Amino acid sequence: MPTPEPRVALVTGGNQGIGRATALALAADGCRVAVNDIVPAEAAAETLAALCATGAQAIYCQADVRDPEGVRAMVDRVAEELGGLHVLVNNAGIIRDNYLAFMKLEEWDDVVDISLKGAFLCTKTAVRKMLRGKWGRVISLSSDAGLMGDMRRVNYSAAKAGIAGFTKAAARELAAQGITVNAVAPGIINTAMTADMDEPRVKGLLDLIPLGRFGDPEEVAALIRFLASPDASYITGQVFQVDGGLRM
Ligand code: NAP
Repeated sequence: MPTPEPRVALVTGGNQGIGRATALALAADGCRVAVNDIVPAEAAAETLAALCATGAQAIYCQADVRDPEGVRAMVDRVAEELGGLHVLVNNAGIIRDNYLAFMKLEEWDDVVDISLKGAFLCTKTAVRKMLRGKWGRVISLSSDAGLMGDMRRVNYSAAKAGIAGFTKAAARELAAQGITVNAVAPGIINTAMTADMDEPRVKGLLDLIPLGRFGDPEEVAALIRFLASPDASYITGQVFQVDGGLRM
């Protein structure tokens, strides 16, 4: 089927970091953009203003990606107000680090539910809109942690490895419907999520990264923008690393 014009994109957890950069990149690429986050609309006013300043049609949708009713209402609103839904970026994610032996059930549940259950709920709901036009793009944020395992992060590593399996299974199922499904696995990116590292940890990580620096959110967003475009029509079921060579 032909590429819908304009494409409508929904980015979860998009009020800051990689999600915000992605929403802006998609807007610059001609998409109408719905940006989701868990915070109230006032707290996302700056992000929405930045999106509108690109000239794109944009809305903000407050919802918890773990909540099926909230996700359904959000997806319906996006389709109604922006004229469909063609691109979903499952970006919402958190960390709750602890040693395995001491990890609380809540720390496990919060991380796995937001990253993995959230991606399942948003994809399941959004795909129903994409099926109508037989054209869609689903891009989910995995992580190097999901591919290599990360200390004090069995919850996060398991959730992000789960995203890789989810992506491949959904890609097989949805290919015949014109919907591609891919994942992006960043390494260490300069966002709030990585801002609290002490100096020895930063130095240790930099020593492992061939490109010798952490990445910027825009460098992840650039790949997501491509995967969401018609140019990426023959790519599905893949997990792409954006990590300065950390894992190769
Ligand atoms: P970030 O700056 O912390 O942004 C994540 C956003 O998700 C925040 O705005 C957060 O809101 C929101 N969020 C949290 N819980 C949510 C929920 N239940 N429903 C909707 N939104 C929710 O993180 P980031 O660094 O940009 O990371 C974005 C994605 O990339 C995540 O999936 C992360 O795991 C992945 N990733 C990041 C890195 C990195 O180095 N930064 C590396 C690999 C993978 P609050 O702040 O209000 O909670």
